[in-house]
Amino acid sequence: MPNHKRLFGTNGIRGVVNKELTVEKTIKISSAIGNFFQKGNLIVGYDARTSGPMLARAVIAGLTATGCNILLVGMAPTPALQFAVKKHQTDGAVIITASHNPPEYNGIKVIWNDGIELSREQEIKIENIFFNDEINYAEWNRIGTIHDLPGVINDYIDAIKKHVNTDEIAEKQFHVVVDPANSVGSLAAPRLLRELGCKVTTINANIDGTFPGRLPEPRPEYLKDLSLTVKAVNADLGVAYDGDADRAIFVDEEGTIYWGDKTFALIEKHFLMENPGEKIVTPVSSSTLVKDVAEAYGGKIVWTKVGSVTVSHKMKELNAKLGGEENGGVFYGPHQSVRDGAMATALILDIMAKTDGKLSKLLGEMPRYYIEKGRVECPNELKEKTLERLEKEVSGPNISTIDGIKIWFEDKSAILMRPSGTEPIYRLYAEAKNAEKALQLIHEYAEKLKEIINTLKH
Ligand code: MG
Repeated sequence: MPNHKRLFGTNGIRGVVNKELTVEKTIKISSAIGNFFQKGNLIVGYDARTSGPMLARAVIAGLTATGCNILLVGMAPTPALQFAVKKHQTDGAVIITASHNPPEYNGIKVIWNDGIELSREQEIKIENIFFNDEINYAEWNRIGTIHDLPGVINDYIDAIKKHVNTDEIAEKQFHVVVDPANSVGSLAAPRLLRELGCKVTTINANIDGTFPGRLPEPRPEYLKDLSLTVKAVNADLGVAYDGDADRAIFVDEEGTIYWGDKTFALIEKHFLMENPGEKIVTPVSSSTLVKDVAEAYGGKIVWTKVGSVTVSHKMKELNAKLGGEENGGVFYGPHQSVRDGAMATALILDIMAKTDGKLSKLLGEMPRYYIEKGRVECPNELKEKTLERLEKEVSGPNISTIDGIKIWFEDKSAILMRPSGTEPIYRLYAEAKNAEKALQLIHEYAEKLKEIINTLKH
């Protein structure tokens, strides 16, 4: 789409508050969203950021001005709000969150009546209303109403419990350490775990929009306190959420932190043992581990472009029941086809209870891969041509061009090369059975990319 001006990024609208995302702009965006929904009933909620209550009022002003009726939840995890859309059969939701971004950011996620974020085509409609100044305000007697919507977190916790064996989990009396990054993860997960009979220890669990405990992206390097606490209190499991609690990263009883595709592969394995033949939806950036498990347990992998909204929509299209991302996103369809940190936690506990296994052992049994990453500078205007040239030059037994280029080799190694959506670079991800091979792939394909980009420059 050349020259189309964008508001939405990969996961909604994001910006630094009072700089890129001002109250004025938020009102105008929300009025455009209100026009898009054509006077519907919409849930509004926000995460723990300092700007949440302020921007929520701007969002409500814009939405009610265009005739939408508001069901106001207030502070809640994103997946709890998405679940409420389906439960209360509203036309959608507007969630004020910047997910894993630092505290000075905030953003707007728009949810459709199926509980999933809008498709690209729907976002374009809102962008057109916004940029063409096509906002229609309601007559004075058609302005939207505002009502509180209580009980959303209760409903959400009860729904999750229906998908796991609560008695079996309770019997084990697991001790779990929860690190919700001082955000909305605090509102659901600790209670869910207590109701599942777990002993719960929390760190960074007081709600504080400055995020004093750690940055809200659950990257392993930010989770050292969680790892140390799990060891110190002899817990069975540790779990960290991102700022809006849709992603979960796990720590085993020895304090080892795992990246998301490892724990997703464990969930996938147990899901396929009970549901052989099912489809597993995952972005092309996921580890070959996810493919190995599908092959070993009779699942069918469906690769998608990178991005949680794409995974959700593909699951809906194919009626698939499980999806997962390497960043800790687990999509459990029987509950809802969106990533959900608390649901992922309940699934891991269910597996630990059912197998009577420690997480270190359960994950230790999975195939092991070594990952290396790299980057190559590439001017934005050459990204597409580079990809076309690359497609002609590379070979391998198994290639996907669904998002960048991914090549899987016979020796179980793989390389993915993707143009960044935000920076003038290509990102490279290599994976292999040993670290040397992964590094060798990065060097080899970085050279190939540089060559192509240099030729295109001259
Ligand atoms: Mg998130």
